[in-house]
Amino acid sequence: MANVRPAIDDQFASSQPGVYVIGDLAGSPVVKLAMEQGFDLASNLLRESAEAPGGAYDAVIIGAGAAGLNCALELHARGRRVVVLEKDRIGSTVANLPEGKWIYTEPEDRTVRGRLPLVAAVKDDVVATWRRAVEGSGLEVRELTTVVRLTRDRGGVLTVETAGGGSVQARRVIVATGKFGSPSKLGVQGEDLPFVQHRLFQTKKYDGDRIVVVGGGNSAVEAAVALAAQNQVTISYRGAAFQRVTKENLRRLRETPGIEVRFNSKVTAFRPGVCEMDGREQPCDHAFVLIGSEAPRDFLKALGIRLEDEWDWKRWALLAAMCVLSYTIYGVKQGEGHEFWPYTGWGAHFFAFGGRPWSFWYTVLYTALVTIFGIRGMKRWGFDHKDKFQIWRYASLIGFQWIFFFLIPEFLFQSAVANQWVGERLASDPNFVNNAWRSYGIIYAWPLFFYTFLGNPADIWVIWGVLLSFVVIPVLVLFQGKRYCTWMCGCGGLAETLGDRWRHLAPKGRQAIWWERMNVVVLVAAALITVALVAHDLFRTWQSSAQHALVWYKLIVDTWLVGIIPIALYPFFGGKIWCRYWCPLAKMMEWFSAAFTRFRVSRFAIASTDKCIACGECSRYCQVGIDVMSFALKQEDLTNGNSSCIGCGICVTVCPMDVLSFARPRSPLVQIQGAVASTR
Ligand SMILES: Cc1cc2nc3c(=O)[nH]c(=O)nc-3n(C[C@H](O)[C@H](O)[C@H](O)COP(=O)(O)OP(=O)(O)OC[C@H]3O[C@@H](n4cnc5c(N)ncnc54)[C@H](O)[C@@H]3O)c2cc1C
Ligand code: SF4
Ligand code: SF4
Repeated sequence: MANVRPAIDDQFASSQPGVYVIGDLAGSPVVKLAMEQGFDLASNLLRESAEAPGGAYDAVIIGAGAAGLNCALELHARGRRVVVLEKDRIGSTVANLPEGKWIYTEPEDRTVRGRLPLVAAVKDDVVATWRRAVEGSGLEVRELTTVVRLTRDRGGVLTVETAGGGSVQARRVIVATGKFGSPSKLGVQGEDLPFVQHRLFQTKKYDGDRIVVVGGGNSAVEAAVALAAQNQVTISYRGAAFQRVTKENLRRLRETPGIEVRFNSKVTAFRPGVCEMDGREQPCDHAFVLIGSEAPRDFLKALGIRLEDEWDWKRWALLAAMCVLSYTIYGVKQGEGHEFWPYTGWGAHFFAFGGRPWSFWYTVLYTALVTIFGIRGMKRWGFDHKDKFQIWRYASLIGFQWIFFFLIPEFLFQSAVANQWVGERLASDPNFVNNAWRSYGIIYAWPLFFYTFLGNPADIWVIWGVLLSFVVIPVLVLFQGKRYCTWMCGCGGLAETLGDRWRHLAPKGRQAIWWERMNVVVLVAAALITVALVAHDLFRTWQSSAQHALVWYKLIVDTWLVGIIPIALYPFFGGKIWCRYWCPLAKMMEWFSAAFTRFRVSRFAIASTDKCIACGECSRYCQVGIDVMSFALKQEDLTNGNSSCIGCGICVTVCPMDVLSFARPRSPLVQIQGAVASTR
């Protein structure tokens, strides 16, 4: 939840006119990038004329962190009237990180822009330089001032209201409050008693006490380790194992005596001196509930800012439009006389123009979308991130679409036949000449293209199809995992281009992964129907069952599951619904890749260094919903033995700390040794 963001445009403008969002809350997960956004917004606002009415400020900045301070210092230095309102102290997020925390200044290839200094140092020194910069500049910062609401008068002047009844008026409001809103609560009886706290500030305060720490993340483990030196500590965690804890913290937990860890446990109530856990009463002098933080939803609502996952009328209208569009495109593509209602009998004729059927224009439209949005994706992930891997990936997707899914089936196949480039024998074979559509099978392997086996076994299409599916694809998988999906495939191509802007909406969590089993069902159905069709071709048996099954498969899988449903859902669940949940080829490749990993011959894995700061960017942008961060924290190799990774590399690209990289999988033993070595 903490990763839900406000909806903002490229200029940081929110849905509330005159209100901007920058920093961690706007998706900058590290200090340098947060500062960069602050500087960029200040530069944009400086292009406007300074004409704040009456005694109003030109801008109120909420939050004195890296983003807010860098923005405010720039505006202030260039003559604008600004004030910063901070609920705690200057740089409080960094100041509250664990004692002695070193602040890295990644990404290294970006220079610091603006007037706020940034040096790699321990957190207290970083915050001290920020305070000096503010004091030296004369910038007005009001500490211990919490913003609670925002209103607007008819003239467009914004009034920022603070806790305690104060208010400040301004023309522009810049929200730089970071993404950590209020701490999450268990919601159990007695949680508001004074001995139960949701943050741990000073461990030295506690001595000889019985302490319960609730939670299974880094902050819970770090707190338990720090408190265990002088206290008796119990960790209560509802999971069966720690998933999101760094290797280093796990090692420290193992090596610290006196901590009792209770997995699969549940705290149900607190009473003075007692914590009720798993139906038993546990004596408890202090309890720390450290289970993460809530996205600052209520706060953003109070400012009138829309969140990216909110269903307003525009989103409903988009869903309706996508459904109609998708249904029409595929409904008409069924061919003359087979169109879906209400296009039956006229749709295909109506949509055929320029002497070409709708299926041709559909391919033109598809190719145009992959090209236009592919160039956009190339800019977003390739050029903007200076990442050659992504530039090549998008070039490959566009290239495959143009050559294998457009030029060959629509033009080159006919030329090859007319000019006998394929030899005289093939050019005069009606089985070959009249089946241009089978050229899609040059790249599409069985069972995605499950007509592979149909026809004479000596037929060139059948021979190539078998080779592609059972030799070329496994070899590719051995070296590249499931990169076929993100470098070559047309279905994956549309998802990675047109669907890219919604990739962060991919369903996440255990339930979402559980549903991936649906593609096993499609794979089994495809296999059974293929057997029936081949039996029918070879022995003339099961004729009507095979034909019936084929008709149903074409309708359910090749029309609704490939085309209509997933494309209509792009703006709501990202582009990979088909690839992740229903594509039988994706499942088959995953099994190949998992087997190669198990037999230690696979060349595909994503490895991590020990620098992860748990920002969650990698998990947010994984279009197949993998919790990449949990692998990075544990420094465990991510392979197709433990995930359905399709090798797009976006997690590697977005990681601001350069934690992730493609690698050959290491054996589990080497992984453990490596992690221990890196902690020495
Ligand atoms: C464990 C951990 C380790 C990290 N390590 C690094 C690192 O090594 N290097 C690095 O570059 N980054 C690191 N980061 C990330 C870094 O802390 C953030 O990227 C950065 O602080 C974001 O800056 P910001 O200005 O957007 O938000 P913040 O720094 O969070 O500032 C937001 C400010 O707004 C204030 N505020 C919130 N609500 C209100 C309100 N209602 N009214 C008034 N004020 C309000 C808060 O008190 C806070 O001071 C780490 C983060 C974590 C969690
Ligand atoms: S884990 Fe990374 S490389 Fe694999 S699919 Fe997700 S974002 Fe792409
Ligand atoms: S590995 Fe993921 S969570 Fe860790 S720093 Fe990189 S992007 Fe953030």
